[in-house]
Amino acid sequence: MTFDEGARLDPGRVRSGGGPGRGGKLALGGGAGGLLVLVVALLLGGDPGSLLGDFTGTTGDGGGADLAHCTSGASANTDVDCRIVGTATSLDDVWAAQLPAQTGVEYVPPEVVLFSGSVATGCGNATSDVGPFYCPADQVAYFDTSFFQVLVDRFGSSGGPLAQEYVVAHEVGHHIQNRLGDLGRAQSDPHGAESGSVRTELQADCYAGLWAHYAATTPAPGGGEPLLEPLTDADVQDALSAASAVGDDRIQGSATGRVDPESWTHGSSAQRRSWFQAGYRTGDVAACDTYTAADLDRP
Ligand SMILES: [Zn+2]
Repeated sequence: MTFDEGARLDPGRVRSGGGPGRGGKLALGGGAGGLLVLVVALLLGGDPGSLLGDFTGTTGDGGGADLAHCTSGASANTDVDCRIVGTATSLDDVWAAQLPAQTGVEYVPPEVVLFSGSVATGCGNATSDVGPFYCPADQVAYFDTSFFQVLVDRFGSSGGPLAQEYVVAHEVGHHIQNRLGDLGRAQSDPHGAESGSVRTELQADCYAGLWAHYAATTPAPGGGEPLLEPLTDADVQDALSAASAVGDDRIQGSATGRVDPESWTHGSSAQRRSWFQAGYRTGDVAACDTYTAADLDRP
């Protein structure tokens, strides 16, 4: 239970179903005509191989999540779709205050889309197998909420609300990087333990922690109560559990029994925890500068 039960939510913050279809496979690397079309997926780096959906054409059934009932903090505490509405709204509140204050850059909210099965995006078509992702070409964060169960069942995360909210905050973190012009660093250096990709992903984890730092104290627009209740130690452990679950070493180890840092795209479990904690502890965008960090093990 992380949301203030009485807080009001606008279900229109999140759209259900696919975006405009533009055909073509989802692009996870390379650019087209100078346009950045890389998607930034929670799990996958530059060469997702078999996990990519290979369908072309129109979007799937569009998901059909009905969000009309997501009108209160209470709904976000009990319903996973509404929790995304609530988290996106809280992220808007925090970043609308912190991004201009700390960087001088205005916050323009990303669109947030819930889908089921498959979806057409500005970066091409995707299936749920890709996991949550952000497409910089259309500035949309895409979620199939069935992933949250996958996160528990296959990746061993705890199932608490902050585990899910961390995932949303991480993807919105990529949107912040897009606003700040940093997202291309992942594209130009996609693999390896010290790569631009790993540094970009760890920074998104740090930005997720930064959101958590401010979420319970940032007033809703118009001076309303903060959307989130103060985080408990158990909440923070849920977020750290999710961050650990999607570490490259953890995923590689369980998939193949081997760990190959040369192919890392997101960083180790310990690194992902550490950078989330760095953002959570400091609330400072500058503390999330993974690109100049001498030791990614020590934020
Ligand atoms: Zn990511």
